[in-house]
Amino acid sequence: MTYPYLSIDLDKIEHNARTIVGFCGKHGIEVAGVTKLACGHPEVAQAMLRGGVTMIADSRLENILRLRQAGIAAPMMLLRLPPLSGVEEVVASVAISLNSEFAVLEGLSHAARKHGTRHEVILMVDLGDLREGVWPDELNPLVEQALRLPGINIVGLGANMACLAGVVPTEKTMLRLVSLADGLESQLDTKLKWISGINSSGLELIASGKMPKKINHARIGEAILLGRETVHRNPWPDTHQDAFILHAEVLELKTKPSVSVGERSQDAFGERPVLEDRGTILRALVNVGREDVDQRGIKPIDPGLQVLGASSGYLVLDASASAGKIKVGEELSFFLNYGALLRAMTSEYVKKRPWHESHSTRSA
Ligand SMILES: *Cc1c(COP(=O)(O)O)cnc(C)c1O
Repeated sequence: MTYPYLSIDLDKIEHNARTIVGFCGKHGIEVAGVTKLACGHPEVAQAMLRGGVTMIADSRLENILRLRQAGIAAPMMLLRLPPLSGVEEVVASVAISLNSEFAVLEGLSHAARKHGTRHEVILMVDLGDLREGVWPDELNPLVEQALRLPGINIVGLGANMACLAGVVPTEKTMLRLVSLADGLESQLDTKLKWISGINSSGLELIASGKMPKKINHARIGEAILLGRETVHRNPWPDTHQDAFILHAEVLELKTKPSVSVGERSQDAFGERPVLEDRGTILRALVNVGREDVDQRGIKPIDPGLQVLGASSGYLVLDASASAGKIKVGEELSFFLNYGALLRAMTSEYVKKRPWHESHSTRSA
């Protein structure tokens, strides 16, 4: 079966990475390419590395192991807090992880000693987005305890924004991070290697010229993979938004009413969709569903198509404006947003087809 599949334009990803790395570099910020949205796909990571990221970051150890197995030697960073039950694997697989719990730091320290290494740690502070991180006034006591752990090196301070609560990084929050980093440096009596302030939501702040100089590290996923900053989801200058395209096949094409016939209750997902009366329309059924994608986050490339809804295995479109243009058995293609791409990458039913646009022109 050919469909559904995701085409992945590796040259566009490389180009986006080069743009973001160049932009951040001009402001003294080094970029870790975040591959979690691409489920740690090795060719995607390689495209990011060709584009100049110096480090690959992912939230899952499985992805990091896959990247290593594919022969990628770049430094790797674990983004999601390590589980206490998995400290041995973490130490064995990555050199650096983001942390906020003393018990876990202790576990990492033990594990690192056993492996005869030291594990590098970036401590995370919560600057208001309310996901991971110690509350700022708990940083000092945590470090006080962590300093006694022989197997870890505290190499940085980080914060994550705009992920759970949608709190945006501002000059004020970044200055707060800087002042916490200053405090941490005097507590440790050494300079920190990384002040890892931002993800794709921080690009506008950098562009505004208000990013404090001390912030020297960014963990960037969406802006490289989908070409968007994430405060307003605006396309970022000189990046592509269509490196990933979803393709599916038309299974049924019929003229039917737009409003259902008969008494209505819930749909398959316990919801009660509101059906807009558009009269009689041409309905296209396509072989991609909620098991493969979040239908709310896809946009048909053909402007004559409109998504009406989806069940686990079907996507239903109003194809009236494209009548005569599409046929059963033909391919339809879609742009994806973050949520839709995340699900499509994760679905084992969606095949992944990385390719090079410029393959024929690329010199060896
Ligand atoms: C996912 C993630 C990122 C990357 O976020 P983007 O918005 O995709 O750039 C950065 N840091 C952490 C801790 C993350 O979990």
